[in-house]
Amino acid sequence: MDEKKKSKGLPKKERMKIPRTPMPEQDPKERSRNFSEVPLGYTPEMAIKEATRCLECKKPKCIIGCPVEVKIPEFIGLIAEGKFIEAAWTLKETNALPAVCGRVCPQETQCEITCVTGKKSKPVAIGRLERFAADYERAQGKMQIPEIAPPTGKRVAMVGCGPAGLTCAGDLIKLGHEVHIFEALHAPGGVLVYGIPEFRLPKAIVNAEVDYLIACGMKLHLNTIIGKMYTVHELMEEENFDAIFIGTGAGAPAFMRIPGENFANIYSANEWLTRINLMRAYEFPACDTPIHRGKIICTIGGGNVAMDSARTALRLGAEHSIVVYRRTRKEMPARDEEIHHAKEEGVEFHFLTAPLEYSADDEGKVTEMRCIRMELGEPDASGRRRPLPIEGSEFTIECDTVVVAIGNLANPIVPDTTPGLKLNKWGNIDADRETGATSIPGVYAGGDIVTGAATVIEAMGAGKVAARAMHEYLTKSETAATT
Ligand SMILES: Cc1cc2nc3c(=O)[nH]c(=O)nc-3n(C[C@H](O)[C@H](O)[C@H](O)COP(=O)(O)OP(=O)(O)OC[C@H]3O[C@@H](n4cnc5c(N)ncnc54)[C@H](O)[C@@H]3O)c2cc1C
Ligand code: SF4
Repeated sequence: MDEKKKSKGLPKKERMKIPRTPMPEQDPKERSRNFSEVPLGYTPEMAIKEATRCLECKKPKCIIGCPVEVKIPEFIGLIAEGKFIEAAWTLKETNALPAVCGRVCPQETQCEITCVTGKKSKPVAIGRLERFAADYERAQGKMQIPEIAPPTGKRVAMVGCGPAGLTCAGDLIKLGHEVHIFEALHAPGGVLVYGIPEFRLPKAIVNAEVDYLIACGMKLHLNTIIGKMYTVHELMEEENFDAIFIGTGAGAPAFMRIPGENFANIYSANEWLTRINLMRAYEFPACDTPIHRGKIICTIGGGNVAMDSARTALRLGAEHSIVVYRRTRKEMPARDEEIHHAKEEGVEFHFLTAPLEYSADDEGKVTEMRCIRMELGEPDASGRRRPLPIEGSEFTIECDTVVVAIGNLANPIVPDTTPGLKLNKWGNIDADRETGATSIPGVYAGGDIVTGAATVIEAMGAGKVAARAMHEYLTKSETAATT
């Protein structure tokens, strides 16, 4: 009997007995010194085996956990039948960036946490299957342009080419609108290209997904800072855009504001990762981007950004890459997988530790960090136990490079140059979560610029929600104009 028929015909009980298929990965020792992708992806045989574990539930709980409503059992069912290209096309009906999501989405807290197989065994590896289908389609070169509605004559501008703007663009193009996307940087993708490192998300994957949207009709304008070259009001009044989506992200780094933070070789995680990723310091010596290649690199923070920074430090040649975090492993906001990978690669962790000040040599280059030990008190507003300093517990850590990865704030350029745009107290745009509508008619917003630093899939979900509302706004104003 052929493999696919055999798997489809298996009774549910038998399918439940199949263990979750592990992801092949590069060896930790080897990969900690190169920038190639860590997980190697499923083979077709592995993908069929894993897809067979899906029970194709009549009321699939996994979809409820997905902010972009991917038809999960449908695409997994197609993989189980060996119809890989069709699976990719099904994914793309609702998700413009499946190869990205399959790599970086926290499925363990979204679709996979609600998967019924997780009750008795491990959940279906939805993310890995998503990655497999999208990669298979790309490798075969069988990209399918979706059905696009006849032109509506409406022009829409997206400000910022991250996952929020790209998703909103993809949905509005399908509805027949003319979509222009304006990006401040010289490359599209937002954090996907300037933040998340090559070994987790190769640039070629992001570029292929952007190329797909361009092939669908999206017009991309790089090196264009909205707020400097055109304001939002100018886009509407002088450039004749009928609606605008602001997806400018949370690109302004936060600092601890402790003594010595301005010494040389102390970087924000944004600068550190941008120099290495977008400015290609990782391709040294082919690209001689200025960056300090330290031997003892300390990263402050416990999120995904801190894990990316610390793992990147090893790949840049650090002998010690040390994460300094003021709570314990349990409270770390980074994905389990990222922490696990960092540990495997040799990243060292100093938990319950907070930096107090930095010292430098005669040239102003950082040499050590004075720290204090912490203990956990009562839970704070985030629900996590508040770290409290232990008096008299100060000690020093020697270091020659520091990366501060304690969070990002709203990108201020558009808010500062758009009169009438309502903001919240943190400087994020105040937008309706159900529609993305802002205080200015025709102007919508979503992603990190609204929520503060969050996730790729949440930004994409916000882009989707806004696209729906913008379409209604654009078609309603059309009806009003013709009656
Ligand atoms: C290092 C790092 C690792 C991460 N890892 C993960 C992960 O593993 N999984 C996950 O789900 N999330 C992760 N995140 C978070 C995730 O990347 C973000 O939540 C997501 O990218 C937000 O999307 P966005 O479209 O709102 O903004 P962004 O991705 O920030 O994109 C905004 C874009 O707008 C552009 N822009 C800003 N101002 C202007 C302007 N005035 N004019 C024109 N363009 C402008 C910016 O240059 C940028 O390209 C990570 C974040 C970082 C920093
Ligand atoms: S909940 Fe799990 S088993 Fe059910 S359809 Fe979704 S992925 Fe398949």
